[in-house]
Amino acid sequence: MAGSPVLMVFVDGLGLGAPGPANPLAVARTPCIDGLCGQRPLWPFAPLPNAWALDACLGVPGIPQSATGQTTLLTGVNAARLEGRHRRAYPSRQLQTLLAREGLPARLVARGRRVAFINAFRAGSLERIALGTYPATATTCAMLGAAVPLRGVAELVSAGAVYHDLSGEGLQDPEVILVTPGEAGRRAGHIALRYDFSLFEYFLTDLAGHRREMGWAVSCLEALDAFLGGALEVLSGRGVLMLCSDHGNVEDLGTGEHTLNPVPLAWTGSPPPAGPPVSLVDVAPLILSWLGVPPGGPG
Ligand SMILES: [Zn+2]
Repeated sequence: MAGSPVLMVFVDGLGLGAPGPANPLAVARTPCIDGLCGQRPLWPFAPLPNAWALDACLGVPGIPQSATGQTTLLTGVNAARLEGRHRRAYPSRQLQTLLAREGLPARLVARGRRVAFINAFRAGSLERIALGTYPATATTCAMLGAAVPLRGVAELVSAGAVYHDLSGEGLQDPEVILVTPGEAGRRAGHIALRYDFSLFEYFLTDLAGHRREMGWAVSCLEALDAFLGGALEVLSGRGVLMLCSDHGNVEDLGTGEHTLNPVPLAWTGSPPPAGPPVSLVDVAPLILSWLGVPPGGPG
């Protein structure tokens, strides 16, 4: 039996760190994240039926990075171990192949499930993607590998997509009417209701962490929180809202690098799993189980 629609809000670089002067999560007002997690998103973090602290180091020495972390989240395969290291930014050919074969989008599409990538791309980016010259991250590779259509400015104008900054301000496009983060969240929720699995990626948290800007980090976290609140308003009782991340970063502005901290996994609208999720490898199987897709092999 296929389950309720799932909206995965993937937040780049959101770890669980101890409260302190370098942790914007200790001061940001995040009532929705607190509600999802059943506590403040800080370390220590008490495991709850629908909120867990996941290991992002994956048993591989070094600092966790985006390409391997995101590929692991989206495939359930330990991509860092497969690569023999944590890989930054863009997936290798090996990881691209894995994402296309075993990514959540590919596996769901192969079983007739409907998948949406809610992020809107600039026209220039879509042109470069069509030409094969765009440096695609793991999330984009997973969607392209499953032939999920990418959204652009036309979809933003018709409320059928959300720009990565939530408001659309960064596009500087007079056609695009700016929205509040809460409106962006409600829009994402309404899109998610029309699909079995939808993904929205928010990466300003990672940028704010690299730049070590406390004020910006706090405003990014509060905007994200309002976005999640908007999505929850729409999905409440009708779908699953999941919050996850690939590695820590923004929770420790004492360093401009990623951290070794665990990352939150929290959701509302679906029951607890049979076994406790431990690391990034446990996220994709959980979503597949909710959507009634058996574990193992591609498609
Ligand atoms: Zn980063």
